[in-house]
Amino acid sequence: SRPPVTVIGLGAMGKALAEAFLDNGHPTTVWNRTAARSEELAARGATAAATVAEAIAASPLVVICVLDHASVRNVLDAALGGTDVLDTPDAPGSGTGVLAGRTLVNLTNGTPAQARETARWVSGHGAEYLDGGIMAVPPMIGTPGSLVLYSGSQESFRAHERTFEVLGGAMYLGAEPGRAALYDIALLSAMYGMFGGFFQAVALAGSEGVPATEFTPLVVSWLNAMATALPGMAEAIDSGDHSATGSNLRMQAVSFVNLLDTSRDQGVDAGLLEPMGALLDRGVAAGRGAGDVSGVVDLLRTGPAGD
Ligand code: NDP
Repeated sequence: SRPPVTVIGLGAMGKALAEAFLDNGHPTTVWNRTAARSEELAARGATAAATVAEAIAASPLVVICVLDHASVRNVLDAALGGTDVLDTPDAPGSGTGVLAGRTLVNLTNGTPAQARETARWVSGHGAEYLDGGIMAVPPMIGTPGSLVLYSGSQESFRAHERTFEVLGGAMYLGAEPGRAALYDIALLSAMYGMFGGFFQAVALAGSEGVPATEFTPLVVSWLNAMATALPGMAEAIDSGDHSATGSNLRMQAVSFVNLLDTSRDQGVDAGLLEPMGALLDRGVAAGRGAGDVSGVVDLLRTGPAGD
């Protein structure tokens, strides 16, 4: 029989996670701030815990997926009796509370710094910690297209890998607890860049009445064609050799002005494009105009702010 799992947080994502565990025969205990959502899962065979502490006690593996870091903190505060737990990693009695001996897997979206903070607190309470990033939308959970990134306790990842695979692909990124969040945020940054570009494109086409549905297939094939250039740019970024491949930065900075002018002429806000134009200009000003556009990546590095 499959090992038991607890899922805390039954929003769109938590519900999909709990359903995947249930569908794969894992005895599943659930808890959600708004209890009605637990009842729905209970009708499908889950055990609805009355309190967070009860939910944590029910399974060695506890998955939490709530709105944000503050919500994680609220929920864990409640489980530990309302103390300001995240600030007291060395509190007396550490390791003897409800979390002791469990593995907590936090699949809530957050920053690497938040992941490291939660990791410190969780180990202060005698539990193992994995932080994760879900690279999927709820309907994808449990399908081959879904990927969840994990970092933190390697022993815990190996022990529960089969269970994680129920959610889709499971990728372990090492013991540094913030690493999965870093990958997650980096991938989301790429995604929002793409969304911004798409929104600009359909707004421009729409300025002359071209329906988004008509224009979008061209956007999709163009983006797919351009995505094939990324591995080559990655090599240039790693090696520092940004020799132009037929599309030098100076040319691109000049053409980019046409993107800005066209948006303004067509009555479309150019605000999403302006920072990219400014970055290309900075690249030219820094003497990188003869090279490839990938040379601007170096200009994005401002040095870490620290924890
Ligand atoms: P929802 O808005 O659907 O659900 C939010 C969940 O958080 C609910 O269970 C809600 O409880 C709970 N919650 C909010 N505030 C608190 C609080 N102060 N204390 C306790 N619980 C709280 O969000 P999703 O389920 O879609 O997202 C959950 C996480 O998963 C987020 O971090 C999100 O970034 C991440 N994620 C989501 C994806 C998606 O496409 N949906 C994709 C990848 C990651 P209640 O029911 O009581 O309101």
